[in-house]
Amino acid sequence: MKSRCDKLLKKLAEKNIDAAIITSPINRRYFSGFTGSNGVVIVSAAGRVLLTDFRYTIQANMQCAGICEVRQVDRSISPQLVEAVLNEFGAKVVAFEDAAMTVAEYSGYIKLPFEFVPSSDVICGCRLSKDAHEIAMMQKAQDCADAGFAELLKRAKVGMTEIELRNELDYLMRRFGAEENSFDTIVGSGPNGALCHAYPGQRRIQNGDMVVIDFGARVGGYCSDMTRTIAFGQPCDEMMKIYKIVHEAQLKTLGILRPNMVASELDLCARDYITEHGYGECFGHGLGHGFGLEVHENPYANSRSTELLVPGSTITVEPGIYVEGLGGVRIEDCCVLTEDGFINMCHTTKDLIIL
Ligand code: ZN
Ligand code: ZN
Repeated sequence: MKSRCDKLLKKLAEKNIDAAIITSPINRRYFSGFTGSNGVVIVSAAGRVLLTDFRYTIQANMQCAGICEVRQVDRSISPQLVEAVLNEFGAKVVAFEDAAMTVAEYSGYIKLPFEFVPSSDVICGCRLSKDAHEIAMMQKAQDCADAGFAELLKRAKVGMTEIELRNELDYLMRRFGAEENSFDTIVGSGPNGALCHAYPGQRRIQNGDMVVIDFGARVGGYCSDMTRTIAFGQPCDEMMKIYKIVHEAQLKTLGILRPNMVASELDLCARDYITEHGYGECFGHGLGHGFGLEVHENPYANSRSTELLVPGSTITVEPGIYVEGLGGVRIEDCCVLTEDGFINMCHTTKDLIIL
């Protein structure tokens, strides 16, 4: 983690910035290891400090050992306390997280006698290429999701509500080692499958339903994210046709995934295939997104993306077709780019499972 701060400092030096104040929980954790809810990390060539309050001092000293010095301050962590550290480090030009700071926080900092430079892109950019530890954590998280899902298939039955199915899967992922969900599990049964982000409800699964299940586990703070659409009994012909199109589109897109490609190319591949088969209007979201400490983070693969998928980037591949009143199909794998290809972290089959 020490090297993460080094990476940031190198980028800041190129922009003649002396120091950074890290205030968002995710980036605080990324650069310092500290997982508590209150703190400010100050990074400069002259030193690295975490300011936090009494509740977290012991924890912070454990988590930040060898990375940054922990100082206990008043819980409010006023801008003046941050100012004192910046002065101690001789900083004049200071990077801050413009995309994460509240107006109230910003109003406090901007009065201080420094030149503040909005730098969320630079600070978050450090997280783009994942290291071996991060990839290992995400694979563990995905393994919990795969194992939980395999067990769910033995328990899922017609007549269960979406909520019951969700509860079972959430429990199973934890039983296989997940710390928590990486996001609220999505279960959309029958016509509810057309709601891309269906919140599970009291609808009971019926014979012939396809059910979209989108879920992820978190291990070591890192997220996994996958979707499978399964059938309970034989679905109607149109849903079978839709499944086949989404499945083919997903495989075709994985077939072109490679490092250093432009992310929009990936989106286009799935979109063209789905459009050719008559359902272009029913694929209304982007093809995929990066994941890591957050379940949605850079890079994004949609028709407007100009980002390059560099080695170490994560990306989901999740085409879908949603037809109001009928249902939906989405198939999602989470992948990480390597120097010469990619690793698909998901190991659950994508052939249609009919229970
Ligand atoms: Zn998902
Ligand atoms: Zn996703």
